[in-house]
Amino acid sequence: MTRSVSRRDLLQTLVWAPAGCVALRAAAAAAPAADSPPANRLSVQDPAAVAVGYIEDASRVERKKNPGFAPGNDCNSCVQLQGQKGDYGPCALFPGKVVNVHGWCTAWAPQI
Ligand code: SF4
Repeated sequence: MTRSVSRRDLLQTLVWAPAGCVALRAAAAAAPAADSPPANRLSVQDPAAVAVGYIEDASRVERKKNPGFAPGNDCNSCVQLQGQKGDYGPCALFPGKVVNVHGWCTAWAPQI
């Protein structure tokens, strides 16, 4: 069975299809990527971060330089972490910034 397409249907499709593509493209550009880091993420190169040896992946802590470190000692288990949203949360040491909850620094202290 074949279905004929009217000239009117064809013209309507040709008019609205580009508008739909533009709308979809604009929506995709406006939506943040699911795993993009927040704009106020603490940089490991920030002088305050460097001062306490902050890194974003606690599994990469140099154990010889930091003999007090133990697996599980990350920002997520630190008393300084003040809430969390996804992989990032504010740290009392760095006002206005968020740290990676899987990170670590020498100021780590256990939650009570
Ligand atoms: Fe992470 Fe705690 Fe250091 Fe803040 S003080 S960066 S929460 S380990």
